Amino acid sequence: MINLKQYEFWFIVGSQDLYGEETLREVAEHARIMADELDKDPLIPGRVVLKPVAKSPEGIRKLFEEANAASDCAGVITWMHTFSPSKMWIGGLAVNKKPLLHLHTQFNRDIPWAGIDMDFMNLNQSAHGDREHGYIHARMRLPRKVVAGFWRDGEVRRRIGVWTRAAAARLDGLNSVVLRLGDNMREVAVTEGDKVEAQIKFGWQVNTWGIGDLAERFRAVSDDEAEALVKSYEASYELSPELSHPGRGRTAVAEQAKIEIALRSMLEAEHAGAFTTTFQDLHGLPQLPGLACQRLMEGGYGFGGEGDWKQSMLVRSAKIMASGLPGGVSFMEDYTYHFEPGREAALGAHMLEVCPSIAAGKPRIEVHPLGIGGKADPARMVFDAAPGPAVLATLVDLGGRFRMILNEIETIGIENNMPKLPVARALWKPLPNMRDAAESWIIAGGAHHSVYASALTAEYFQDWAEMAGIECVLIDRDTKPLRLREELRWGEAYWQGRR
Ligand code: MN
Repeated sequence: MINLKQYEFWFIVGSQDLYGEETLREVAEHARIMADELDKDPLIPGRVVLKPVAKSPEGIRKLFEEANAASDCAGVITWMHTFSPSKMWIGGLAVNKKPLLHLHTQFNRDIPWAGIDMDFMNLNQSAHGDREHGYIHARMRLPRKVVAGFWRDGEVRRRIGVWTRAAAARLDGLNSVVLRLGDNMREVAVTEGDKVEAQIKFGWQVNTWGIGDLAERFRAVSDDEAEALVKSYEASYELSPELSHPGRGRTAVAEQAKIEIALRSMLEAEHAGAFTTTFQDLHGLPQLPGLACQRLMEGGYGFGGEGDWKQSMLVRSAKIMASGLPGGVSFMEDYTYHFEPGREAALGAHMLEVCPSIAAGKPRIEVHPLGIGGKADPARMVFDAAPGPAVLATLVDLGGRFRMILNEIETIGIENNMPKLPVARALWKPLPNMRDAAESWIIAGGAHHSVYASALTAEYFQDWAEMAGIECVLIDRDTKPLRLREELRWGEAYWQGRR
């Protein structure tokens, strides 16, 4: 689990000197109470840090400059308790580099009908103060999330929490490396992309290392180290019976343990949050990393198969967002369909590399031939994904810019045994239905690789995309493919101006 307490969210309450000392004291006191409560709420996983009441252009600019310089500050939350003239905010907002959440709330829930007077009105006027504030965001075309409602309400807290998790993932990306072992798979288009643009947009440093570097580390891992790790597998997972005693199977599991140890040490040495492999470049390794990739994903690393660094980066970002939440996050691939009328579903899997965090029960380690790649039989965890709502997210490069595509899905139980398919898999019904979901995904250029998240909803990815300044297409129960096609065409005009 990734510790989200390291991330700070600065709470800046706006006002102005015009109101006089007594009112400003009350503003500050209310801000303190709110920051305290928000900070303590487990729905908001980072730390909410109160800043002085913003009252002047110089003070506001200084606050945002400090936020930019604060390495733990993942985002800024603003709220206008009173009216705070927005021309005062232009200088600060213009330099701001942190994700912005505009909380549109007020300190009191109810209008005090019997006692309300003009003093009360002067203090509790976010209904118009936040409109002035929202205007300048709109006028400056700033990316942000607006959350409206009473600040003690659970749904308001939840939505702030979603944004804080997305902001934590954003900050993690600004300091992270995708360690690529080998290139993209030969001739494949959708896993390609502009790595320079990715660093500009997401901060991710997408760089390559030779597979020989991993093979060397692999060879340096001792049999005893590998055996100790295999023993720990026995405690966490079920092992296929023949793997409990020495033999070819046990050796295959130990080889994956060595790959895991070698890869982990390499990721740590390079400060990488994510990695890719490709089965076309495994020189010096006995097997495709299967179990090893599953284990590292389970530990919070991003992974992408066949050199897919975009999805690897997105898996890692989703892992940060989902830290501590029930459910899981995995690299995923659309594999095959079930077209039986009324029971349409999509079967997702990968060659091997699906994260056990999405499993319904205890994963089982098995060793089988792969049928592709020409390497030794790899060990892998086999399981079905837990039923329930989930979301698929993919990132594609449209040439000059990125597009994220989301699809809400309902994962269902797998009723039929598939004894000849010993891989981790998920069976789902996409929204709004198989036909419209598939047509919409294809129209939008969505990849066969995606991030599968049962721990998250579309809202997390939408917040994250807004922070990165990229297009985000949602396919949900209301999506109509032809309407979507038109929207994507209108969007071209918008995004042309933002390259
Ligand atoms: Mn693949």
